[in-house]
Amino acid sequence: MSSSSLMRDFLHQAGGTAVIDGGLATELERHGADLNDPLWSAKCLVSSSHLIRQVHLDYLENGADIIITASYQATIQGFKAKGFSNEESEALLRRSVEIAREARDVYNERCAACPLGDGADGKILNHRPILVAASVGSYGAYLADGSEYSGDYGDAITMETLKDFHRRRVQILADSGADLLAFETIPNKIEAQAYAELLEEEDIKIPAWFSFNSKDGVNVVSGDSLVECGSIAESCDKVVAVGINCTPPRFIHGLILLLKKVATKPILIYPNSGETYDGDQKEWVQNTGVTDEDFVSYANKWCEVGASLVGGCCRTTPDTIRGIYRKLSSSKPVTLATE
Ligand SMILES: [Zn+2]
Repeated sequence: MSSSSLMRDFLHQAGGTAVIDGGLATELERHGADLNDPLWSAKCLVSSSHLIRQVHLDYLENGADIIITASYQATIQGFKAKGFSNEESEALLRRSVEIAREARDVYNERCAACPLGDGADGKILNHRPILVAASVGSYGAYLADGSEYSGDYGDAITMETLKDFHRRRVQILADSGADLLAFETIPNKIEAQAYAELLEEEDIKIPAWFSFNSKDGVNVVSGDSLVECGSIAESCDKVVAVGINCTPPRFIHGLILLLKKVATKPILIYPNSGETYDGDQKEWVQNTGVTDEDFVSYANKWCEVGASLVGGCCRTTPDTIRGIYRKLSSSKPVTLATE
């Protein structure tokens, strides 16, 4: 597949729509990981990569076609602050992709051993193209002060600062065997612009997606226009999909319509559960979101208005993803051959 057609070819093979995985941190914690650390889920790259592999595998077995690596908050700067050397830090970034690829290999083996497509406990084991997306969190995610949800980096942060901050990590992840780069939770225009320039300047060889977050259903979290942010993604040749993540489900419909004003590229959507995040306590407030049933019932509607990739972000689980998988499968044309 050539880089620019990767997403369209992939979606074509998947029958028009595809499923992105769900929340990583929530699942890691459910499996016993302690994420109380500025490195957040990246901490597991150091201490418990087997848990990350297990969570990737859980998502594949619940219908995800794209798994996102545990590198959202993994930065060379963050690892070095924890005492790792430069080489060790770079190796940890590569490791995040390796773990996801290992999960895909295990999954493919399980599919081969189960030709009918449904394993024990209703696991979904049908052999299909699977993409590994290397997560790149925003500068705000590295700061771990909630600024990826405000988009306010202050006046001292310029386009050059942001490009320099992300440069080495993007180079390493692009060279790590991932299928694409997932720039996630982009909170403002300046960071989207920095990513677009970086992709061109470094002549990055794998495609990317840009995903923004919103807390008002109109703009990205900084208050910058989503339409303007979407235009940046649209005009960058290396970007193969654009969309929204970590945003309450109730805003998604309107945000897709806004993006469609400027985006001809495939639109991706992976909202959070809609629960409220308490930035002071650094935790999610229980039972303030939508149920899995409601979330899943929106999935077809999002596709009807223009989304072609649907998954979940924070606080969504393999159950959510399985629901989305079933929902999207039920409205796909029946194909006789899978390859
Ligand atoms: Zn999220």
